[in-house]
Amino acid sequence: MAEVFVVVDAQGDTVRKVTLEMLTMARALGEPSAIVLGAPGTAAPLVETLGQYGAQKVYTAEHADLADYLVAGKAEVLAGLVAEKSPAAVLLSSGQEGKEIAGRLAVKLGNGLLTDVSGLEADGTATQNVFAGSWIVKSQVTKGIPLVTVRPNSLTPEAAAATPEQVAVEVAVSDKAKKVAVVERVAEQKGSRPELTEASIVVSGGRGVGSSENFALVEELADLLGGAVGASRAATDAGFYPHKFQVGQTGSTVSPQLYIALGISGAIQHRAGMQTAKTIVAVNKDDEAPIFELADFGVVGDLFKVVPQAVEGIKQR
Ligand code: FAD
Repeated sequence: MAEVFVVVDAQGDTVRKVTLEMLTMARALGEPSAIVLGAPGTAAPLVETLGQYGAQKVYTAEHADLADYLVAGKAEVLAGLVAEKSPAAVLLSSGQEGKEIAGRLAVKLGNGLLTDVSGLEADGTATQNVFAGSWIVKSQVTKGIPLVTVRPNSLTPEAAAATPEQVAVEVAVSDKAKKVAVVERVAEQKGSRPELTEASIVVSGGRGVGSSENFALVEELADLLGGAVGASRAATDAGFYPHKFQVGQTGSTVSPQLYIALGISGAIQHRAGMQTAKTIVAVNKDDEAPIFELADFGVVGDLFKVVPQAVEGIKQR
């Protein structure tokens, strides 16, 4: 069976969910091989999880020149490995780093690249949702080994236990790739909430929330439920909540078990980022708001009356 490369997206010792999705997706095409690119010591804590989701091999390319966001070196190492092993396809996550590596790799190899893919069939046909999910496009790479970036939260990862063979990759990064260096790291203030794209519950606020102070209500509900906080673009553009929490076409894609939309109209660009949530609850004072076409449960009412009641109800349980 052909090898399918899955370039591992991890955060420290944790394999990101999108990697598990890619390993699941890769199995449609062949045998997944995980590729870990990073500083020395990156791979060891990840191998067990990668095996649990079907990685038959784990290639470890570890070197200080591949630490952090040093994408030029990563693309170089990957290009060498792809040329040597000729996998059936290379899957990367559709985050900033994955897309940048994929773009560089496509130029280096002269191969076709499909981005933001949400599904992959055995013959390599990829599915992409375009124009905020209003069209579904099926495409295939026709030149070279297909390079594919996978949109997070596209499918449910399925475990398939394997004991991966570990293969060390020799790393020699060119001087050209070394022209970029990390000069400073600023640690992000991390709260206790789960990461937006990985959370199983997301509570989002829109323009209807009205102000940054009022977002405390959205946060209170999210915290009671152990969820993440999201926001519509209208809310982030208005400065009610930071842009990195924006859900939608130009923000993050989320696919939680429960998505609660507070004061969000349900524009197509917002739906593009949340419509695959398992259960959608909407609170909106306009009974004709398009979000109700999508919602499993809708409350027509003022969020400033509905949410405090919900909060009280949850607290009493
Ligand atoms: P509105 O559409 O103004 O809706 C506010 C809602 O709140 C209304 O339905 C109103 O009835 C309700 N409301 C008001 N007060 C209350 C209250 N007290 N209680 C209950 N309900 C109340 N948008 C995104 O969200 N994410 C994206 O990634 C994104 N990308 C875009 C990309 C492009 C290229 C373009 C053109 C647009 C994009 N947008 C995106 C913007 C999108 O079109 C909408 O403008 C935006 O989603 C609207 O946000 P909203 O629902 O919060 O605001």
